[in-house]
Amino acid sequence: METENLQIVKDSIRVIPDFPKPGIMFKDITTLLNNKEAFKILISHLTKRYKSYNLDYIAGIDARGFIFGAALASHLGVGFVPIRKKGKLPYTTVSEKYSLEYGFDEVEVHIDAFKKEDGTKANVLLIDDLLATGGTSAAASRLIERVGANCVESCFIIELTFLEGAKKLNVPVYSVIKE
Ligand code: AMP
Repeated sequence: METENLQIVKDSIRVIPDFPKPGIMFKDITTLLNNKEAFKILISHLTKRYKSYNLDYIAGIDARGFIFGAALASHLGVGFVPIRKKGKLPYTTVSEKYSLEYGFDEVEVHIDAFKKEDGTKANVLLIDDLLATGGTSAAASRLIERVGANCVESCFIIELTFLEGAKKLNVPVYSVIKE
């Protein structure tokens, strides 16, 4: 992305200190979404990047990954699949647990979400707003593989590089903003 456009996207993200708990610098992307210039620049940039990837689906992580993923899927003319927190999907699911600071969480996907009519493996791009420790997206990429699809890349709007989350993912990682 051109430096000037990247700056517009960066400047549109609001930082809220100590949310949801002391010490966390929360990246609030609602101010990117309601900035029509920044949102358009971002989705145009991702459309340009991924149009040659031969994707079949975009998988977005609950919940902010849905917003970017659905917009991008529509621009690319591919399907969108939600990867949800446990207990939200109505049909048969496959689930993956991942560790949090205290305890664990779980993400799920519908077992038939990445079907292709010709029976070949679907190419899937995983997307979320932010890569922190990588636990959530590593679990999500395992899910994609477990239901028989090919996770070609993980895409994030922001990557907190000091947490080294990219090391947890065994797929290529692309982040628009690296901090
Ligand atoms: P992780 O599994 O540690 O990579 O955490 C990633 C998930 O937590 C993403 O879905 C983010 O939306 C959220 N998250 C973690 N840290 C932050 C932060 N500093 N600001 C906003 N969202 C965050």
